[in-house]
Parts: sequence; structure tokens; C-alpha cells
Amino acid sequence: MSKPINVAELFKKVIAHCKEYGFIFPSSEIYDGLGAVYDYGPYGAELKNNIKTYWWKAMVQMNENIVGLDSAIFMHPKVWKASGHVDAFNDPLIDNKDSKKRYRADHLIEDHYGKIFDKADKEVEKAAKRFGESFDATLYRQTNPRVVEYLQKANEVRDRYVRALEDNDLAALKQIIVDCDIVDPETGSRNWTDVRQFNLMFSTQFGALASENENDNRVYLRPETAQGIFVNFLNVQKSTRQKIPFGIAQIGKAFRNEIVARQFIFRMREFEQMEMQFFVRPGTEMEWYHQWKATRMKWHHTLFPQHKLRFHDHDKLAHYANAACDIEFEFPFGFKELEGIHSRTDFDLGNHQELSGKKMQYFDAELNESYVPYVVETSIGVDRMFLATLSHALQEEEVPDAQGGTAVRTVLKIPAVLAPIKIAILPLIAKEELTAKARELFHRVKMVVQCQYDEKDSIGRRYRRQDAIGTPFCVTVDFETLEDECVTIRNRDTLEQVRLPIAEVANYINQHISFDALMG
Ligand code: ATP
Repeated sequence: MSKPINVAELFKKVIAHCKEYGFIFPSSEIYDGLGAVYDYGPYGAELKNNIKTYWWKAMVQMNENIVGLDSAIFMHPKVWKASGHVDAFNDPLIDNKDSKKRYRADHLIEDHYGKIFDKADKEVEKAAKRFGESFDATLYRQTNPRVVEYLQKANEVRDRYVRALEDNDLAALKQIIVDCDIVDPETGSRNWTDVRQFNLMFSTQFGALASENENDNRVYLRPETAQGIFVNFLNVQKSTRQKIPFGIAQIGKAFRNEIVARQFIFRMREFEQMEMQFFVRPGTEMEWYHQWKATRMKWHHTLFPQHKLRFHDHDKLAHYANAACDIEFEFPFGFKELEGIHSRTDFDLGNHQELSGKKMQYFDAELNESYVPYVVETSIGVDRMFLATLSHALQEEEVPDAQGGTAVRTVLKIPAVLAPIKIAILPLIAKEELTAKARELFHRVKMVVQCQYDEKDSIGRRYRRQDAIGTPFCVTVDFETLEDECVTIRNRDTLEQVRLPIAEVANYINQHISFDALMG
């Protein structure tokens, strides 16, 4: 029976589990780590690769009109001028003078009014339970005095906040924090500094030539992979003879000097993105924006239940967008952005055209005209997807033990297609006849899927180890195997065991981990 892990505990347990079982280690740990930088261990590397493959297949392999790209991390500095990142890729930061902790001012305010909206939702939920089927939630929101008061308060703060962001008014942001009596979430202190802007791009010097002016050879570590796609738009279009609408997909590292680094791999300074830019005719972008929202949500639903996901429209649009929303996932610390979907207009291509002096236009033979295409972007963090997968998969369950009682097992119920190891091959005991047979099977199956051989410890302990790394199938070779050429396959989630001829094992596993099974 599944015992849900207490939410407050879950995040800590995920972090500890990642370390103990070789998924994620703090970077440079022997030197006490480096803030918001992490290394992926053996199982983490496998899971991360599987997430990337699953995305790549869904985006590139399944769509004739989407092609891949792998552009360099370093780009010409003018790229970041044109994209707006040099001038506008800032976050507002605020320090608490007592605790010496640093926060994103925008996050403090968003969390504040978010909690008031949540209170209104809770009231509505309670009333829905009380009144049953005849309940009209919309009417209740408009008429119940307490709900009306909450909504009014939250909307007022949100409106002030959006205005302050639009006007780039840092003093107004600070004033909201003061007026709303927002305290340091960790210490309760109200002793705040002023709000300052902070550019998130890392820069470094390029080449060995020293220059009087440091800025002459300054390059940036890319803060998003998208610009590599934009500057290559015509190279890709011409070399692959794609016609609009078409997309370019890319997976790669991005770097942001994040202000707050306290959320494990949710917010890292070096992370990985899976981005797809879809080039469309001007005027059709909204249609495509809605289509990509639906398509991406469907992808997430192949892996997570619907109630773990929701859309969130942006309160304030980024400098490049005319529509934007997030797909939020319910992480152990609440609903937060997992993926962004943005209608980026012709902002990027238009600016590159202007700054480079090179045409970024597409000739549309059907319309017999040239134009700078509009772009709809889907952008998801590999690491956030990793965290979503692990935090949803980690469970504790009561299972029967060998003495006829019960024991608690820790199991990672990762969808089989993403699991780091698909199958473990276990001789019942470490006796030569059995280990030789099991190894023979291992060498056969490893040609087909990622597979592990283990003969150490009791069979029960080996099952537990495989449960903890999320292996969906364990195959046991026993003495009967030597006679009937059959093995037992144990299912991680149901604990059911089936007996199959050895010759059918690879096929059986393949059916259960196939991409088709999930993509439907
Ligand atoms: P946030 O508001 O959480 O800072 P963002 O809106 O700046 O995120 P985007 O610029 O839209 O994020 O980036 C697209 C995706 O890249 C995000 O949905 C997220 O999954 C991922 N991402 C962005 N920043 C980070 C980070 N610092 N660490 C890990 N993943 C990130």
C-alpha cells in the first residue's frame, strides 16, 4: 500500500535520495560545493539522457517539419545586444539587512498575492463541498464577502506590481514590499535594502589578445539556446528546404547568474534547455501559439497525471513576446514553471536583421512575398523536468517481507521509458550454474536495452536496490531456469511476477518501454 510522503519532507527526501543513489551530487563537493551548480551521477546521467531523447523524438522525429540543431555556446557579443539580453535581462534583487539573505523582489511579491488568491480558492472549495451539486462557483466568487475581499486585495497588489515592472520602477517594487508588510520568509525580518537590478548573464574574455578595453573581447555564456536557432534560421531553412511553417529544435546548456540559489536543481546557474522555435507567417502566430500549448501539455500528460499540471498566463510579458504562458508542475514546494510557451513575434529575427545588416527574410512562394517570420517558442528545462519526474516518482510503500510481516520499501515509479536501467538480471543465489546462466542472458539483453547484472546480497535486498533506482523489471534466474529455460520477471509497480522463456525476455521488455506505448 502506498504511503504518500509528507510534502514538507518530500523535497528533502528527493535531494537525499539523489545523492545516496547516484543521481545528483553537489558540484565540487570536496570544496564544499559551488552555489546552484550540480553534477549528475551514473543514474542521473541515464535519466537525463532519456528525458532528452523522449523530448527529441516527440519534437523532431515525429514531426516532418521540425529539424534539429546543435549550435555553439559562445556567440558573437552582438547577438545579445540584438536579443535585448545586454540591456534587459535583469532581475530585481533585494537584500534583508538582518538575515543577510538575498531575494528576488518580484518573487516575494508574486508569492504574497499568490497566497491571497489561494485563500480565495480554498474558501470556494470549502463552499463547494458544503453546497454540493447546486453550487455555482462563479457566482460565489462574485458575491461572498470574504472571497470578494481576498480577490480585490490580491488583484490590487498584482496590478500595482505589473505597473511597477512595466515602468521598470524599482522604488515602486520596494514600496509594495513595505506596504504589504512582506517579511523575510526565513526570519520574519522587515529590514530591507532598496531594490536593485541585476544582469543575469555571465561574461568572460575571449581569446588570448589582451586589450586596453576589457569590453572589446567580452563574450557571454548563452543565457538561452534560442539565439543559436535564430541566427541559423536561414542556414537551416535553405539546407533542409523547409517551408514555413517549420520548427528548429535544440537541446543544450544555458547559464544564468541567478540571484537566489536555494532550490536544488529547480534554479541552477548552469542548466540545460530543450527549446523549439516554430517559424510562421505573420498574423498566424496566435493559432500556432494555442496549438503548441495543447501539444506540449499532451506530452506532459503522457508522463504525469493531469492534476499535477496547469497553465499559467504571464502577468507581465517579456520584452520580446505578445503572448506567453507557463506550464506549471506541482513540485514539492508548490506549482512552479516547468516549461514556457511564448509567441516571440518577429522581435529576434527583426533585431538581428537590423544589427547585422543581413536579411532574415523568407520568400513565401504561395504568397509571392518575402517577410520576417513570426516565432512561437516552446522552452523547457531538462533539469526541472528531471526534478518533476523524480519528485513525482519517489514513493514509500508497505510491502510483505520474507517473514510474513510488512516492510517499507522506497521506490521510484519512473515511467519505464525514462527509467535509467530498464532491466536487472539477478541470479537467485551466487552459485556458478546460476551466475553463468544469468550472465549469458545479461550479455544478450544489454544489446537491446540499458541493463544491469547483480549477484551481491539476498534477492530481497537486490530488489530493494533496483526499486530505489526505478528499474521497472527484475529478471530472476533460478534452478528451474536450468531445466525449463524460463525466468521470472518481477514488475516494479505491481510486484506481479510472470514466467517467460528466456528467448522472449528482450521482446517483452521492449514492448513495455516502447516510445509508441507512451505517445499513443
Ligand atoms: P523563472 O521565471 O523560473 O526564472 P524563466 O521564465 O526565466 O524562469 P525561461 O527564460 O522561460 O525561464 O526559460 C525556459 C525554461 O528554462 C524554464 O521553463 C525552465 O524550465 C528552464 N530554466 C530557466 N531558468 C532556469 C534555471 N536557472 N535553472 C534551471 N532551469 C531553468
